[in-house]
Amino acid sequence: MRLMEKNGNLVRTLTPAELDQLQRFHAGSLTSYHLLTANRALLKIRSDGHWLACECRNDHLPVMHVRLDSSSGIVTMVNNPETHDHAVGCEFAKDERETGSVRVHAERLAIMLPPDSPLKLIGQFRQVSEGDAVERIRNTGADGPAQREQHRQVSMLMTLIEASGLNSYSAEGKQTLTQQFAELRKVAARYALVDRVPASNYLETRIDMKHMLMLKSRLVESTAFQDKRRYGLMLDCVVGTKGRKLLTFDKPEGFDFKGQNLLWGGTKTEGPVLALAIYSPSTPGTNFYELINVASVPVLSRGHLFPVYRAEEREALSEMVSIINWMATKGVKVVMRRPMIGSFTMDELVLTGANDRVLSVSLAASPSGPEPTSDTFKRLSDFKSLQTFSKYVMGFFMNNKK
Ligand SMILES: [Zn+2]
Repeated sequence: MRLMEKNGNLVRTLTPAELDQLQRFHAGSLTSYHLLTANRALLKIRSDGHWLACECRNDHLPVMHVRLDSSSGIVTMVNNPETHDHAVGCEFAKDERETGSVRVHAERLAIMLPPDSPLKLIGQFRQVSEGDAVERIRNTGADGPAQREQHRQVSMLMTLIEASGLNSYSAEGKQTLTQQFAELRKVAARYALVDRVPASNYLETRIDMKHMLMLKSRLVESTAFQDKRRYGLMLDCVVGTKGRKLLTFDKPEGFDFKGQNLLWGGTKTEGPVLALAIYSPSTPGTNFYELINVASVPVLSRGHLFPVYRAEEREALSEMVSIINWMATKGVKVVMRRPMIGSFTMDELVLTGANDRVLSVSLAASPSGPEPTSDTFKRLSDFKSLQTFSKYVMGFFMNNKK
């Protein structure tokens, strides 16, 4: 692989280690800090204005560039529009659209936020000249502060879901909607919006005008923020977003929001969704509060906030819930869990029964990344119908009851 200038001049050839990193990045097989390191390296190539020429063939080298999705902050390597084809079998022949690595990357980057440290979910206003403050310049670079805060906001929503156990279902652990929100508030109490002030103090779990005004009056009167930008959190199960509107069940025409809709999984999925919105003044020195960025995760229903990866899963997920309930009546306890942070693939669901019986399943139509190789991984689309799949799952747990 060569690094080249846009006029075709060679900058240098990548080292074998760098090439290996890019291959693994493109295949979607990097995690945690290896992924962050690769991201950083690619962003450097992008900011240097360089292109990559693939040496899979020696006549006409296919040329690629680093793409940055400014709304999600996701970095990918894509082939230049008019470039030559890669050699057959070259790892870079496929674009990220086909391999699904974009989606994998989005999720892998979500991190479990450490409790008891300030969340930093919004940028500070910055002084440009005397008495003239503006919101800090946003989206100046991929690794810029705005992206970091947006990433943290998605991570915060993931953390809330994971730590409150909403991504886990069992017949005996079934909770009412009120209990599910109570768990979310309990988790929020472990995080600080600013120094040692629990996020739950400035959290509303209903998005409507009344609760915005209640949150605003608490924020305006607060002494906790001192000179820092004031903000609160609004968390609710809503219809979804449309453009810069957050659509709720009570107000289908929606509420305006000023920032981005940050998506778990990188692709928009039909609601209902659990939305975490930041509520803050958009300009310094005013008490004009607005919804800023909105992070969202699709959920099973308005009454059951179990996270959904893609809309196509909904029917099968409801079926899984029913068979788990049914097996419980036969004395077979099964827990279904969706790993939200650091999982192998986003569409994976892990079913655990007695005697350490573990079955990992995907309800998505096609793989979104590298597949687990164990024989206890099953994909719904490999079965004749949802019914035969359900029978398989029940057989797996019930025939081995001892
Ligand atoms: Zn190639």
